[in-house]
Amino acid sequence: DSRRTLEIRIVPYGQDQQLLLARDISELHRLETMRQDFVANISHELRTPLTVLRGMSEQLSEMDDLGPEDLERPLVLMEQQIERMTRLVDDLLLLSRLETEAPSTPRSLINFNDMLEDLVEEARAMSSGAHVITLTVDHGLTVAGDEEELRSAFSNLLGNAVKYTESGGRIDVRWFEAAGGACLTVADTGRGIPLHHLPRLTERFYRVDSGRASRNGGTGLGLAIVKHVLSRHSARLEVTSEVGEGSTFSAIFPVYERLDEASGVMKTGQH
Ligand code: ADP
Repeated sequence: DSRRTLEIRIVPYGQDQQLLLARDISELHRLETMRQDFVANISHELRTPLTVLRGMSEQLSEMDDLGPEDLERPLVLMEQQIERMTRLVDDLLLLSRLETEAPSTPRSLINFNDMLEDLVEEARAMSSGAHVITLTVDHGLTVAGDEEELRSAFSNLLGNAVKYTESGGRIDVRWFEAAGGACLTVADTGRGIPLHHLPRLTERFYRVDSGRASRNGGTGLGLAIVKHVLSRHSARLEVTSEVGEGSTFSAIFPVYERLDEASGVMKTGQH
């Protein structure tokens, strides 16, 4: 978008002259629009579960002689909506922390092996056996950072792979050393993402298919969180995808360390 927004002011100059001052406020204007969109999106996302909850409670209060069996279904639906709101608020708080707080120091070396095993277990539980999920780890490879942040970023990538891959699909998680640095890839055989969506994927609340995405419970903030966590670790996110074939999300850490298991000596890798 090449349009510019200018702020024009006319100020007195000397005795009988005026000066026209123009200031380029395009960036301010863009940020303000983004902020307004964000607030509108949050309000919309919170309103949806609230509307369902209000409807259910009205329905229940109008029913006479409620038995336990009448309550079963409404309670499940209400719980789902409360969970959805909780996820949204948790993600918003995390995102705001990532945006405003300085990265924690000192940073510890993270045991990727244990962390990824936990996350793959969680993903298997979430998929309830519907997907084949594999994990390949280079044991010596490690990064200094914030374990909790990295956990939530990788958990989002794995969760997405499960959500956007039909039953029977494969998800392969790999932690390895590549030319550009230490690399975590989450490759799925899911629905894929049309090319023109890729540049906007990490925007807050951006969804490829809004109808379907909100049905499967995503907050729309997952990849925004991933992007922030990675940039706090001097790492970057790359996505390749083909519609109907699957997607690969890669987190690339140019700065990492390798533990030589024989000598116990750390070597720093840098690209
Ligand atoms: P959501 O909570 O909607 O999953 P995210 O920020 O995690 O939000 O992802 C943004 C959008 O990117 C998703 O709504 C989905 O359309 C798309 N997406 C993310 N991961 C994948 C994937 N592995 N396969 C296909 N589409 C994906």
